Amino acid sequence: MKNNKISVTSNNIFPIIKRFLYSDQDIFLRELVSNATDAIIKLKTISKIENLDNIIDDQLFIKIILDKEKRKIIITDNGIGMNKEEIKKYINQIAFSGAEEFIKKYKKNTSSIIGHFGLGFYSSFMVSSKVTILTQSYKKNSKSIFWSCEGTPTFVMNDVDKVDRGTKITLYINKDNSEFLEYNRVLKLLQKYCKFVPVPIFFGLKNESNINKKSINNTHPSWTKSPTILKEKDYINFHKELYPHQLDDPLFWIHLNIDHPFNLTGILFFPKIGNKIDLQKDKIHLYQNQIYITDNLEGIVPDFLGLLRGVIDSPDIPLNVSRSHLQSDKSVKNISKYITRKVSDKLYSIFNNNRDDFNKKWNDIKIIVEYGMISNDKFFDKSINFFLFYTTDNEYFILKELKEKIEVNQRNKDGKIVILYSSNKESQYSSIKESSDKGYKVLLLDSPLSIHIIQKLEFFDKNISFVRVDSDHIDKLIISKVQKNQLIIVSEEEKKILKNYIINNTFVKSYNLSVKLENLSHKDNPFIIVIPEFSRRMEDINYSFGKNLFNNGEENKYKLIVNVNHIIIIKILKETSKEKINNMIKNGVNLALLSKNLLYGKNLDIFVSEKIKELC
Ligand code: ADP
Repeated sequence: MKNNKISVTSNNIFPIIKRFLYSDQDIFLRELVSNATDAIIKLKTISKIENLDNIIDDQLFIKIILDKEKRKIIITDNGIGMNKEEIKKYINQIAFSGAEEFIKKYKKNTSSIIGHFGLGFYSSFMVSSKVTILTQSYKKNSKSIFWSCEGTPTFVMNDVDKVDRGTKITLYINKDNSEFLEYNRVLKLLQKYCKFVPVPIFFGLKNESNINKKSINNTHPSWTKSPTILKEKDYINFHKELYPHQLDDPLFWIHLNIDHPFNLTGILFFPKIGNKIDLQKDKIHLYQNQIYITDNLEGIVPDFLGLLRGVIDSPDIPLNVSRSHLQSDKSVKNISKYITRKVSDKLYSIFNNNRDDFNKKWNDIKIIVEYGMISNDKFFDKSINFFLFYTTDNEYFILKELKEKIEVNQRNKDGKIVILYSSNKESQYSSIKESSDKGYKVLLLDSPLSIHIIQKLEFFDKNISFVRVDSDHIDKLIISKVQKNQLIIVSEEEKKILKNYIINNTFVKSYNLSVKLENLSHKDNPFIIVIPEFSRRMEDINYSFGKNLFNNGEENKYKLIVNVNHIIIIKILKETSKEKINNMIKNGVNLALLSKNLLYGKNLDIFVSEKIKELC
């Protein structure tokens, strides 16, 4: 046996490898399987070029054996193997100096590197006290070589009796990492990283007889196939294969396939999301040549697509760079744009080809579209053509259709088209009813992102103005073309007295209400409480960001509208007993507060109108 020195400048690279990559130890198996896969794919390619007749595709495999007793993991492949020169070049020199360079560069920041790829073979020393290689090159006349290293720059390399073509790597698992001698732990690793490796992997315990029976991986996952041969059930099954614990099937999917100017394949699934933007457990998985890298796609796809599921497989995403570097990478930028475009194209095509189906799915996907529209201008420009508004009468319109429906009847005093909306059908029931009775359309905008969408749309189309149905009396929000009848004339003097009285009434004061007298219809309620659009919207924005961006103060948040045409108000004006006046105001305002605050819309509304009748 001959001892040699690995040609590196630093003697203590192994402790560095161990220390800096400690948190991501389990990548060692992925790196070794990845090398074995490369070796087999290279052999396949060479066999075609050199017409090697002894290479049979379905006899190529990777075998992983766990020898718990002897504390070994053995990874064998029947790929191209290495001769002496190749070991010298790839293992002793290049791979090692590559590892050293890698560590030097990312010493401070290894956690931000996407996949820790590139450390390759030497990552096995993170878990091993000794690693050996036994290998036979496919090249004629080359000798079998044995190499061994105990985690110091000294290694052993010599010729041995001929073995089968390929490479056998044996890891002697160190004391700190006995977990990797557990069958289930290793199986889990393989299922995480190697589930779709393109070469069959057989895994088992030493002396297990059925080890070659069934491979643990699917070598032809759906994303590698042509969409033309895949049926709906194939996609659904693939989704199950990716997320075995997921009970819901996806709503639809996008098959990605491009090879210029970058190479990328994959399938993205749209899940049923509804109004939840919780942190997703099941995310998009990034693969490289069918080997799992990560499910943290930050910087690679826009954030809003983080709500989708599926697989992206691209060799063109650089892995050994920090996240902050990624964003300026040209391929990554193009990939991000490509995916965004594919998503909007798909949504538009469903909208165009099957509107009913699109309407049905809308509530489950709208949050993704909203998130995208808020954060990505290009996506906004496309989505405006299929973004759906849902009315309280269960109709769906895109902005253009909605405007056509309401532009004649729903205008404010500045001539803008008024888009009425409600954020809660129950608690805003009476306001919705008032508007619907007048023939106005009311949208239901109840997603956590609605407020941002509203801001964005008003910026995009200066001719529209969103107002929540309960932000003022409907006749103030929309200038009605119908003339009001039966106006009872209350003199300016009387109004002044009434207003002062209400303002100075301690009961009203304690609610911090600003008071406004209006000539509404005698059919409208005598007291109406509204929350003006502007201040409420600022509050919603503050709430959605979790901080006070706009200091709105508590002053006059609520407004009390007093309908001077209502019979009760006329009575109050005629009344002389202070106590009776106080009671009438108190009861009326209480009812207004009640109708504003509580749920059970319909029942409450009837209750309030009956109580008002009683007061009259
Ligand atoms: P990388 O895979 O990133 O090139 P590695 O350190 O993992 O770096 O491997 C260095 C080289 O050693 C590989 O590029 C390959 O040429 C050779 N090699 C490693 N494992 C095998 C194997 N199982 N069969 C054949 N060659 C291998």
